[in-house]
Amino acid sequence: MPNKKSGAPLPPPLPEWFPRGVSLLRDPALNKGTAFSDRERDVLGLRGLLPPHVSSQDEQVHRVMENFRGLDSPLERYLMLEGLHDRNEELFFRVVTDHPDEIMPVIYTPTVGLACQEFGHIYRSPRGLYVSAEDRGRVAEVLRNWPNRDARIIVVTDGERILGLGDLGANGMGIPIGKLALYTACAGVHPRRCLPVMFDVGTNNETLLEDPLYLGLRRRRLSGDEYDALMAEFIEATQQVFPEIVVQFEDFANHNAFRLLETYRDRICCFNDDIQGTAAVALSGILSALRVTGGRISEQTFLFLGAGEAARGIADLLSAAVVADGLDEAAARQRCWMFDSRGLVVRSRGGLAEHKQAFAHEHEPVSNFREAVEALRPTAIIGVGAVPQAFTCDVIEAMAKFNHRPIIFALSNPTSMAECTAEQAYAHSEGRALFASGSPFDPVEFQGRRFVPRQGNNSYIFPGVGLGAVAVQATRITDRMFMTAARTLADTVLEEDLAQGSVFPALGRVREVSADIAFAVAEVAFSQGVAGIQRPDDLRGYIRQQMYDPHYFNFVE
Ligand code: NAD
Repeated sequence: MPNKKSGAPLPPPLPEWFPRGVSLLRDPALNKGTAFSDRERDVLGLRGLLPPHVSSQDEQVHRVMENFRGLDSPLERYLMLEGLHDRNEELFFRVVTDHPDEIMPVIYTPTVGLACQEFGHIYRSPRGLYVSAEDRGRVAEVLRNWPNRDARIIVVTDGERILGLGDLGANGMGIPIGKLALYTACAGVHPRRCLPVMFDVGTNNETLLEDPLYLGLRRRRLSGDEYDALMAEFIEATQQVFPEIVVQFEDFANHNAFRLLETYRDRICCFNDDIQGTAAVALSGILSALRVTGGRISEQTFLFLGAGEAARGIADLLSAAVVADGLDEAAARQRCWMFDSRGLVVRSRGGLAEHKQAFAHEHEPVSNFREAVEALRPTAIIGVGAVPQAFTCDVIEAMAKFNHRPIIFALSNPTSMAECTAEQAYAHSEGRALFASGSPFDPVEFQGRRFVPRQGNNSYIFPGVGLGAVAVQATRITDRMFMTAARTLADTVLEEDLAQGSVFPALGRVREVSADIAFAVAEVAFSQGVAGIQRPDDLRGYIRQQMYDPHYFNFVE
């Protein structure tokens, strides 16, 4: 009989600490609700506290889904699932695992964006840790208040660039919470190993500062040395309190994101999902699309709409893949072009941010995206600028004129920020576009064909990378791990997926995909000498064993 807290067999009789009666029903890590058996009800003091019928977990999932589908508003659905998460963790994860297509768009993009915008108004109960500018000098103390000393993954945000929605301050906590739920649902990282952190340094969002229900620090953002010092204290504290932790930076504005990644990537086990996770998912989508077009990656021209974290991360990884295909680095970079709010990113432009310089090429200035498409004749356009409808009918038609199968990725989140809809991509390209999006779109019927566009969703990548890193106690997360993760993901795409226009596998297969990625990442960790354990003989089996399975245990025989 396994002990859910330690994973070790439970000695009969139940240990002293094991809660009974109402306390057991109020412990979300142990509560099974109506699924407690008759024997458990007798032994654990539950008799009479529950309706007489003993439900199976399947019946409970059925009831949850019936309730979920009966709610019209996405926000109500989000709150309903949060309530379940607070009451019965195992059932919550079972529901997410069994119904990813329906549940993930609610616990993550697009609904999580709405939940963040409304955070102060819909707040019910605490989840995760808040480290604020007022905690200077006592950050380690704050981390020690976390009840699970075996936390192994932190997702941290400072709320400054939440999805494509901008500065949402402490409201951004919805993002680490959602990402960590995906770690558990998509890769089986145990919930007690997951720690969401809000790094609250204030907000410059006037509406929030004036909102009486805003829950974050009511001050303008820390910046410069003060910001860096608080972050340094936080990072130092994570290493003291949770020495084996993986830190995932999430939704930081790009003026901090690149610097933090450069500062810490060679010092601790960390990565930035917006830069590196996005890069891997996009490269994977491109590799799958090339199976359809038949082209080599070194022959492609990529044009990005947006020149921020996502664009830079993707361009770096695409260039690395082009180098692996035989070109030198300068020629590989020349394959990637960026277009930002001031037009095509070209050498002659003054005052370019550092992260754009490597992809600023010789070209005359172009201020209109369609004209940039006409001038460069890209084989793929990748939207990561959070500019809704930037891929106009003209742009898509131009892409379809130059390419038999144009690659059109509208990756900006949430849905309201997408560069075009799936329907527009197919309609304006005579059904020839190879399309992927950041937020989900329904299947599209066009000229008698059914297209199933899939999400270029980071949740195909980061859970597996994190699981692999945690499993082998990696000391660093390397670029090679993301390259390997991208190739592994692309290898899971089936011919029947491609035939219906899907460049990613079905979300229903995400646990299997994450296990493959974790295995591949763990192999890289051993080959690069950054694994903290001896290589187990059966590495794949070893990783599988660590995956949390959201099915109930019997506490008593
Ligand atoms: P960012 O703030 O770092 O970059 C945004 C970029 O867009 C900047 O370079 C800015 O100059 C550019 N931009 C702004 N207005 C523009 C305009 N009118 N025309 C052209 N460019 C313009 O943000 P980011 O982290 O790169 O994220 C951008 C978007 O990508 C967000 O919507 C985010 O949700 C999405 N994203 C999606 C995924 C995914 O689907 N897998 C992953 C990461 C980011």
